[in-house]
Amino acid sequence: MSDTIHIIRCLKDNYAFLIANPETRTATLIDAPEAGPVLDALSREGLTLGAVLLSHHHWDHVDGLPALLQAHPAPVYGNSNDAARLPALDHAFVPGDSLLGGRCQVIDAPGHTLGQVAFHFPALKALFSADSLMTHGCGRLFEGTPEDMFATVGRFDALPGDTRLYSGHDYAQANLDFAARFAPDPAALSARRNELAQLAAQGAPTTGTTLASERLVNPYLRTHLPEVAQAAELPGATALQVFAEIRKRKDNA
Ligand SMILES: [Zn+2]
Repeated sequence: MSDTIHIIRCLKDNYAFLIANPETRTATLIDAPEAGPVLDALSREGLTLGAVLLSHHHWDHVDGLPALLQAHPAPVYGNSNDAARLPALDHAFVPGDSLLGGRCQVIDAPGHTLGQVAFHFPALKALFSADSLMTHGCGRLFEGTPEDMFATVGRFDALPGDTRLYSGHDYAQANLDFAARFAPDPAALSARRNELAQLAAQGAPTTGTTLASERLVNPYLRTHLPEVAQAAELPGATALQVFAEIRKRKDNA
């Protein structure tokens, strides 16, 4: 049996994720926005916490940690380069490290914050990108430059198309509305609009799209395309210039 990914809604629009091993009944948690929903999921699924991986230091990704660890003591993993701003770490890694017996690769993902990382689980074909590349969009550049985020997205874009992208927030609808301004594939846009309406009606999570499908609608994966440069009113500009312009427009949207 392979590991199972549980998507947990937290706070207003955050996601946490449990990666559960069905044989050992232990789970790895990605980010801890709040304790309650994660504790509920652990008890509902009959799981014990085996490890906690932190993507970045923002409060809405770490504040649930103390209450969670009280109920489920488990080692906490985070970026050694950002250890001063993260909760106390039991295991400080550096981007590029492989964790959990080789099941997880840490990918450097600066842009939203300088110390942000993403977690790639190759066997699960899953990329946990938190607030860097997101479903149909990408996170705000609080600390990094457009160059940082462009390079981050480029690292993700090198992964296979059937990799599923799990981001830290449910911004899919707003991101898709914005993406529609930058020449997405029309058929993919319309299919995803219908799908999001269905997911909203069911109250189901919107994250977990494939990189292949993101390459059809997510403008930040399409900045090399002439029609996207045109839509950003920067015909002939470099992919990085188009990327920076689209991200700037989102800040003002
Ligand atoms: Zn954040």
